[in-house]
Amino acid sequence: MLDRAAAVLDAQPVLEVRDLRVHFDDYDGIVRAVDGVSFQVMPGRTVGIVGESGCGKSVMARSILRIVDRGSRVVGGSVLLRRRSGVEDLMQLEPDSRPMREIRGREIALVFQEPMTSFSPVHTVGSQIIEAVRLHSGSSRAEARREAIRQLEHVGTPHPGYIMEQYAWQLSGGLRQRAMLAMALVGGPSVLIADEPTTALDVTTQAQVLELLHSLQHQSGMALMLITHDFGVVAQIADDVVVMYLGRVVEQGPADAIFHDPRHPYTRALLSSMPSVIAKPRARLATLPGAVPHPLNRPPGCAFHPRCASAIPGRCDRDTPRQSVVQPSHSVNCHLYHEADPT
Ligand code: SF4
Repeated sequence: MLDRAAAVLDAQPVLEVRDLRVHFDDYDGIVRAVDGVSFQVMPGRTVGIVGESGCGKSVMARSILRIVDRGSRVVGGSVLLRRRSGVEDLMQLEPDSRPMREIRGREIALVFQEPMTSFSPVHTVGSQIIEAVRLHSGSSRAEARREAIRQLEHVGTPHPGYIMEQYAWQLSGGLRQRAMLAMALVGGPSVLIADEPTTALDVTTQAQVLELLHSLQHQSGMALMLITHDFGVVAQIADDVVVMYLGRVVEQGPADAIFHDPRHPYTRALLSSMPSVIAKPRARLATLPGAVPHPLNRPPGCAFHPRCASAIPGRCDRDTPRQSVVQPSHSVNCHLYHEADPT
């Protein structure tokens, strides 16, 4: 245990996002979907990226792999991937270039909420995993088939030989998620990005998939970036937490600090509105008033101020909060923790 803790302290981030900005062109203007996001992903750790729908989490995650939708563009920042060959800034690679295609799957893999977006409905699950194995290893079809079965076993799929012959739409939601994970892991990635991987599942299957992700991550030492709107999911497996609101990071730190000493009113509101992470069983659930505004209508000052019960009139609606360090690895962007800027 001490060895693992020491290794984590010594480790360099496997992925470092620095001031990432991603914009969309819209008829009504420029949508700043990701607006200066920075955080680190450490090897062997799980970072939960959390926030309501519309906070830019998924766009940010896809931008790391340069698979943003048409009309969007990365306008600034860097994403540094630590590889055996050195550190590579993924934002300097062309999205369709060979190095970028090699990084997808081999170094960083992505799984989605809905596995049908990963599987073709007209090919069996097995044939698609075999193709993925061959793409990454160049092995023969027979070897690739053995590896595909091994991967399905590895993610706890019962009767892998039978599952190989099925189409994705023939499988239950939980089995589809396991098959998608098997396909994502064939390249032996050092980072797995899981975008709302359990949102469409029932509670029991959700717990099983989270447990599986946790154990796969521990066995392989890969880093896991878990994108979710659900703090309950983060509570189950995250080591570190990044809270996003309207395209920006508002608080980040170790999970222990975020859950036991949350500082940002948005983090506190999210936590208190989640029944599964309420500390006191009889505590009343708070509701978060309003909704995340469209990025085109970003409120001035702190974007959260129209929904914030602690907003300081004349300041929060005017000045953008800067980052304050709570502990060396715990920071918050909120005027409550900053002296008033000299005017
Ligand atoms: Fe609330 Fe002001 Fe802090 Fe924003 S900066 S979260 S409005 S107190």
